[in-house]
Amino acid sequence: MSKILQILEIGSPILRQNSATIANTTDPQLDALIVDLIATADAANGVGIAAPQVASSVRLFIVASRPSPRYPQAPTMEPTAMINPQIIDRSGDLVAGWEGCLSVPGTRGLVLRDRAIEVRYLTRHGELVQQELTDFIARIFQHELDHLDGILFPDRVSTPTDLITEAEYLKIAFD
Ligand code: ZN
Repeated sequence: MSKILQILEIGSPILRQNSATIANTTDPQLDALIVDLIATADAANGVGIAAPQVASSVRLFIVASRPSPRYPQAPTMEPTAMINPQIIDRSGDLVAGWEGCLSVPGTRGLVLRDRAIEVRYLTRHGELVQQELTDFIARIFQHELDHLDGILFPDRVSTPTDLITEAEYLKIAFD
């Protein structure tokens, strides 16, 4: 059975820590955490969630893009656990996009991210995956990877005026 976990919010020191590399990908406790993270992201209409957001300071996140009230344009994919994720190459062409975060409720920020990235991670079955991610999925990966290094999206806006409320964001997005 999966549990819905409590999501830490900006101000919690755990969100600012460097997370630890995961040594044992076959630990049953790790698999339980993955199941709970997927359920928690789903319940909160998140397109991704990182372990530190639920107070587990380890290098693991879920990418779970699908359309939701928070991200109506998101592509659909199977929720995927990514363990010890790394970016091994970047396209270098930066694109601006509005991001939100379950740990920064009610807020959106305009953040520059690489449009395409080459990434490497371990699956929940311990398999090493290397693949190219583009556009929205690449953005989620870069956002979630930041969580593992104690970085939140408001740190990434170019200017403070690029930080706005969710209500103001909805006016921009759907006008
Ligand atoms: Zn986040």
